[in-house]
Amino acid sequence: MTNKGHGLWAGYDLRRQRMVQRLVQMGIHRSEVLDAMSVVPRHVFVEEALRSRAYDDMSLPLGLGQTISQPYTVAVMTQLLLGQEPLSARQKVLEIGTGCGYQTAVLQALGVPEIYSIERLRPLHDRAKSNLRAIRLLGHARLVCGDGYLGLPAEAPFDGILVTAAPTQIPVPLLQQLAIGGRMVLPLDNGQAQYLWVIDKTATGFQETCVQEALFVPLVNGT
Ligand code: SAH
Repeated sequence: MTNKGHGLWAGYDLRRQRMVQRLVQMGIHRSEVLDAMSVVPRHVFVEEALRSRAYDDMSLPLGLGQTISQPYTVAVMTQLLLGQEPLSARQKVLEIGTGCGYQTAVLQALGVPEIYSIERLRPLHDRAKSNLRAIRLLGHARLVCGDGYLGLPAEAPFDGILVTAAPTQIPVPLLQQLAIGGRMVLPLDNGQAQYLWVIDKTATGFQETCVQEALFVPLVNGT
């Protein structure tokens, strides 16, 4: 007799490895990002009824009108966050829009030592906490329920800020909370389309680079 439960996990492992191979074909090359995504069990973060699709390259509904980003988007954002730098350049990272906690788990698996993540919707904040506990990755990530538009001034500055919902303008408090040498990755919505931007803070100002088209839920300004 086969062990059904075990068979199911083995099935997820295989699908996750295929997802990672697909990410390589799509241009993800940082081995740390690929390694992190090959260990985080993404199916734990999606609703039970959708688990068979967890490793497909698509976003999935989380309820409350929100979505878990598609694997490629998470990989691109994480790779952009690292840029050309070694992982050690991103000691302290802030994520805006925890959702189900998948991106947070990827940051943990990557080995970022200090992680903060803000979610405005309490039910999702609670779910992310229990998801991260379920895979024993809550570890050192600090999950906050509140308005991510404002960032976390008490913990600033951050070496990296990942915004996983799209504002129409760069939130000024987040620019202020970036360390010199730090980098923010965010989608910006210009009313017609969204583009992913990278903002680097230097000693003399900001350097902004438009990377590619994006598709995120809106960043709500104000809880
Ligand atoms: N990082 C998630 C993506 C979640 S979708 C992942 O790994 O899949 C974006 C999330 O941003 C939603 O849960 C939404 O509720 C949240 N959000 C939108 N505006 C926000 C704000 N101002 N502050 C904090 N969270 C916000």
